[in-house]
Amino acid sequence: MTSGQYRNQFHIPQVNGEDSIYLCGNSLGLQPKKVREYVNETLEDWASLGVEGHLHARHAWLPYHEFLTQSMARLVGAHDSEVVVMNSLTVNLHLLMASFYRPTADRYKILIESDAFPSDRYAVASQAKWHGLDVDDAIVLWRPKPGKHLLELDDLEDILRVEGEQIALIMIGGVNYYTGQYLNIPEITRMGHDYGITMGFDLAHAAGNVDMQLHEWNVDFAAWCSYKYLNSGPGSLGGIFIHDRLGQDLSIPRLSGWWGHNKTTRFRMRDEFDPLPGAEGWQLSNPPILPLAAMRASMELFDEAGIGQLRETSRENVQYMYDALASSGKIQIITPENPDERGCQLSLMVGKDGRPMFDYLTSQGVIADWREPDVIRIAAAPLYNTREDVERFVKLIDSYT
Ligand SMILES: *Cc1c(COP(=O)(O)O)cnc(C)c1O
Repeated sequence: MTSGQYRNQFHIPQVNGEDSIYLCGNSLGLQPKKVREYVNETLEDWASLGVEGHLHARHAWLPYHEFLTQSMARLVGAHDSEVVVMNSLTVNLHLLMASFYRPTADRYKILIESDAFPSDRYAVASQAKWHGLDVDDAIVLWRPKPGKHLLELDDLEDILRVEGEQIALIMIGGVNYYTGQYLNIPEITRMGHDYGITMGFDLAHAAGNVDMQLHEWNVDFAAWCSYKYLNSGPGSLGGIFIHDRLGQDLSIPRLSGWWGHNKTTRFRMRDEFDPLPGAEGWQLSNPPILPLAAMRASMELFDEAGIGQLRETSRENVQYMYDALASSGKIQIITPENPDERGCQLSLMVGKDGRPMFDYLTSQGVIADWREPDVIRIAAAPLYNTREDVERFVKLIDSYT
């Protein structure tokens, strides 16, 4: 199925009077047409009901986040109790580290990948600093081999053999934002657990892109945003996963707020904090309903299509692009050649003369992403990109001289 049966459910940005070739879902997903209806519903209920909307809105605000839980859990392969939608991504990384990065004198290091997304690097470095640690000592980088772009498991194994007993937390991107490399999450989780390390993943570029089984893979925790492949609108809320092994343990210290408190006594306002079991017990605040309404529109489409089926679609489109671009001789692709080691993003290293090529593509209606100094990232998002999109893109590359 490469026809893109869900494409007409989205607003496609127009360039030069026709559909743009929108290959930027890795950065900001497109707007599902239903978003307007769901957001309007919330606006109308607020206008007509005021505070009564908490209980009497068509979708009551009090439990609103729960309308998204099953869909999110399905998407990442989790039990419903292991997932909640709350806050945004970097905030959630900090909240999760507050619980799951608790350094001791012997075990205090955090391992991340060397080209992690900047916010993740700032987050882990600031956590180390906040615990009074020396960042250079506490942060361990997993690097590609010299001259290479992709991470290899034997290098991780080498690090673990030397420093594994000192590493408290491994927190890496499931799909790397820069190279598009999809890491072997279950294997890496096993490797880390063998050394007693807590395993967290940033799934910003994985959620809605690849199919995962976080529960079965025994991942400890994960967080992702919803405005990339999950099409929930700029700055919309993030999701978290906490494995039930941990989430059901009410004694785990956490930074708390009233929305994580036992629902039946939440409004008595006086009780000692009584955490909800599962990921919900990590919520702090009552969530903003408007972006959650937008998210409902997108998650309905994921529910209908199924992430497994969507993954198949994007595999075909990405393979088509990969083969065509690789044989064009004009572009070096740094994303893995093995389809199991990538999602729907290809990272094209276009060299020092690449910027004019990017500008040409832009002038011809391509919306893609330029990363200094010389990388173009393109993503064939599973829900709305079609075979026609990728064919148009490949034709433009062919015609560029
Ligand atoms: C997009 C992205 C972010 C952005 O973080 P926000 O807190 O949502 O602004 C962080 N980390 C990774 C890996 C990302 O891809």
